[in-house]
Amino acid sequence: MMINVFPRLPKLLRVSTLLLLLLFGAFGCSGERDGGGIIFPRAFAIAIDDLGWNEGSNISAEDGPYRAGLRRNMDVRDYRPIVEVGRAVGVRFQGLFVLAEMDRENVVATLATATQAGAKFDNTANIDDSQIETMNYVKDNAAYLEFGIHGVGHEHWENGKPTRAEWYDMENDQPWPEEDNREHIKVFKAIMAQYGWTPENGQSFPESFVSCAHAYYWNPEGSYSTGKLMRDSGVKYANINFRSIMEANPPLEFGGGFDHGLLVINRRQYGNNWYELTSLPSEPIASFKTDIIESHWPNWLAQDDFLQPRLNQRWIDFFHEVQATRVRYLAKNTEQFSSQWLYTRFATVTEKKRGEVDIDNTNMPDEACQENFLGNMVLAVALREGEHVSRARLDGEPVVAYLEEAGFGYIYLPPLKKRRYKFKYEMGEEAMPTYVNHTGTYNIYTFQPSPEGLVIDLETYGTQVMEVKTSKKPSAVRSSNPHLKVLGHEYDQASKILRVSLYGRDMQGERGIINIAF
Ligand SMILES: [Zn+2]
Repeated sequence: MMINVFPRLPKLLRVSTLLLLLLFGAFGCSGERDGGGIIFPRAFAIAIDDLGWNEGSNISAEDGPYRAGLRRNMDVRDYRPIVEVGRAVGVRFQGLFVLAEMDRENVVATLATATQAGAKFDNTANIDDSQIETMNYVKDNAAYLEFGIHGVGHEHWENGKPTRAEWYDMENDQPWPEEDNREHIKVFKAIMAQYGWTPENGQSFPESFVSCAHAYYWNPEGSYSTGKLMRDSGVKYANINFRSIMEANPPLEFGGGFDHGLLVINRRQYGNNWYELTSLPSEPIASFKTDIIESHWPNWLAQDDFLQPRLNQRWIDFFHEVQATRVRYLAKNTEQFSSQWLYTRFATVTEKKRGEVDIDNTNMPDEACQENFLGNMVLAVALREGEHVSRARLDGEPVVAYLEEAGFGYIYLPPLKKRRYKFKYEMGEEAMPTYVNHTGTYNIYTFQPSPEGLVIDLETYGTQVMEVKTSKKPSAVRSSNPHLKVLGHEYDQASKILRVSLYGRDMQGERGIINIAF
């Protein structure tokens, strides 16, 4: 009944389960919709590294930075494909930024080891209004592109000679001094502030991190680690290729774990090299071993504008294929991805008889229960022609959101506590009468219908539309948070869909209560 069994099984059993699944064609295209019962799918996400450079050229042969591996300058047009694909598939992609060349005030010169030029760093030649345009674009499109931290200059230089990499000394297998790395965080913040991205202006520090060149100091038991450095700054999530940090003994068989409160998840690259223009993963999706995969900026770019729509479509098709894969689904954002990773690792979902599901979340580690790490749990059912989930209740309460896509009905449960739950659902010709239709990239935490209206606790990013199925036309839509604005709303009588335009000020997520009054 349960699909996601093998992360918890011993290796021998896992291999035989995989063989059985292959024998019965569970990963094939045909028959994917035929199996009944609840699916507990693995989340899927993609990280996009090395955004933020102004110059694209790899000058590592002259002891300079690798950058994007593209001999041209970068500008706002190079961010649009990511946003356009994200909008098309309803996903907020995780972007990882290197900020040295966005520096308008040469604050990077205070870090002697952050660039090849060291204390003589001078970014004047790069700087004009185009960086403001780019950074505003990134902020305004937070619904589809997440601003995450990668680094200041990507490597570590001493007397003009680089060592890989910025956050950990891979060559000598030792951490850089803690105080130095803390200065890098300060400079990253100072560059953000040059664009008005400060706590005073309602902007939080990034929640996601990828360490440059996967050089990461894994040290959960010690007093200092890259995880501690990042968690102290407000970062919650990291992903790195664990094969690059074998010396640090990360929990490889586990595929991830907590380092001083930072959730670090293993990732891999599946055939799209970091410098390749127009490059998608070449390995089949069914063979991906990790839940988050690696990509780099040039992979998303065509060599000229006239070729870009075709490449965007290839990425859109790729994500549709992920969504159509029974054991996977597209996570809406990093928080949702990370939650599902924790649930699929630590929770069990068992369907005793069709429509009655036991969820056991009692093995969730305490670290995961703090600081809002646990968001929505996602379950799915394969839909036959004309079939819908007609009723869904978690311990008698309505689910928070629902989405039909790629032949599946995706059911979003509220954040779970460390306990057992009973989930009941029914299939039918009519979809549920009232629900959030999860086409956006927000997170819904509670959904409470009443005769007077609907109360929705959510976190949203940037500007986007929330769709709500309701048979009653609302008289008013209000927000509890002045920084989570309701820009407008319209109700379509024919489809019974209410569209609410939302704007969240903090690009890392703005939370509030939306009241829809009938
Ligand atoms: Zn990088």
